[in-house]
Amino acid sequence: MWSFETDPDFQQELDWIDQFVRNEVEPLDHVLGSQWNIHDPEFQRLVRPLQKQVQERGLWACHLGPELGGKGYGQLKLALMNEKFGRSRFGPIVFGSQAPDTGNAEILAHYGTPEQKKRFLDPLLDNEIVSCFTMTEPQGGADPLVLEASAVREGDEWVINGEKWFASNARFASFFIIMAVTDPDASPYRRMSMFIVPADTPGIEIVRNYGFYGEPEDTHAHLRWTNVRVPAENMLGEQGDAFVVAQVRLGGGRMHHAMRTLAQATRAFDMMCERAVSRFTKGEQLAKKQMVQEKIADSWVELRQFRLLILETAWLLDQGHDYKATRKNIAAVKTVMPRILNDIAARALQIHGSLGISHDMPFAEWIINSFHVGLADGPTEVHKVTVAREVLKEVQPAKGPFPDYLKSEQTRRAREKFGLKGEE
Ligand SMILES: Cc1cc2nc3c(=O)[nH]c(=O)nc-3n(C[C@H](O)[C@H](O)[C@H](O)COP(=O)(O)OP(=O)(O)OC[C@H]3O[C@@H](n4cnc5c(N)ncnc54)[C@H](O)[C@@H]3O)c2cc1C
Repeated sequence: MWSFETDPDFQQELDWIDQFVRNEVEPLDHVLGSQWNIHDPEFQRLVRPLQKQVQERGLWACHLGPELGGKGYGQLKLALMNEKFGRSRFGPIVFGSQAPDTGNAEILAHYGTPEQKKRFLDPLLDNEIVSCFTMTEPQGGADPLVLEASAVREGDEWVINGEKWFASNARFASFFIIMAVTDPDASPYRRMSMFIVPADTPGIEIVRNYGFYGEPEDTHAHLRWTNVRVPAENMLGEQGDAFVVAQVRLGGGRMHHAMRTLAQATRAFDMMCERAVSRFTKGEQLAKKQMVQEKIADSWVELRQFRLLILETAWLLDQGHDYKATRKNIAAVKTVMPRILNDIAARALQIHGSLGISHDMPFAEWIINSFHVGLADGPTEVHKVTVAREVLKEVQPAKGPFPDYLKSEQTRRAREKFGLKGEE
């Protein structure tokens, strides 16, 4: 069964989300600071009532399974929803679906003890608190072999020491999920374990917060951990399991992120189109120039291709394929995402001319954001390697020096198959 249709009931919900985001949520992007600064009085005043409306509509934290009070929507529906609220910086948090809290909630739900769930998961799901996931270190992020922050067992506690880097929202987080080396001599992907650490634990210091162009506040922390003690039961999953646990937070989350990026690229595309039919040069619309048409055609095709790849991947996940089985697709989505946003935002900027480059247009922010999505969660190059490795896994080498698909060889076999005699 193969269908590209959305069922009418769910389409109604998507239409509601679309209007709600455009009319109520998008304006927040222009007046509020970080969307994780949940204790800001203006956040309380402006965002909380919108979250309440989403809850009343039954669309809150839809990524959750029914056992956690969610609707148990599959990845396909979640992807379509993210495409709607990805238009706005505040969209995800108004719908209770903001990273990294969604991924952190998933691993807490899978691996947390009942006490941990009560203390960390429940308030996280209600957005009473926000969280931080910290793996990357100052000396490198793409290569897990260079990570050094360590956790050493002392009696009933683990003692964590080290430095972490670009830990998003650390300054607002009530707790951290940290990856630390517990077994330095184990194989590369068995060296690290994961821990839940309350943010007020002594020994955690924010050395400095870093930001990037377009962000309203600097929220990515360089952290120093000095003799930070956590009870042994704060380990998430088994010792050495950090990478196994981490996989749980990546599968669906990457699809949501991709659809939100698609939404941003679509906004750039819409602006490009409007400008093309509004601006005149040498006596005719920009839209009449072939090189402008090429930009519009290429952008439209790329958006549709990207959308189909994401939806196919979400559909595969819904068919019960796990992270391993869909790794190639998920990595492929991750590699396309930055290029689509970068290319389409850059074309939109170009078509807007000098206005496009100005602070009054969002294009430069979106171009920087394309680098954000190409780095966070691992750089594009690493994901391309995954795609190629997965593709090549299934491929057998040729038996001899010449490939089996030589035309002359195929013709010889075909003639033999059909019993044809005479000249070849
Ligand atoms: C906006 C943002 C938010 C982030 N939030 C978090 C967070 O909350 N928690 C967290 O732990 N981390 C976070 N990160 C860090 C992110 O995971 C790392 O930036 C990423 O893994 C790359 O690590 P790095 O920055 O150290 O780059 P490096 O590892 O130094 O790599 C630099 C560059 O080298 C190239 N490269 C690296 N490896 C390869 C390879 N195998 N083949 C070819 N080229 C390669 C790529 O071009 C790469 O961009 C965030 C990053 C960004 C940009």
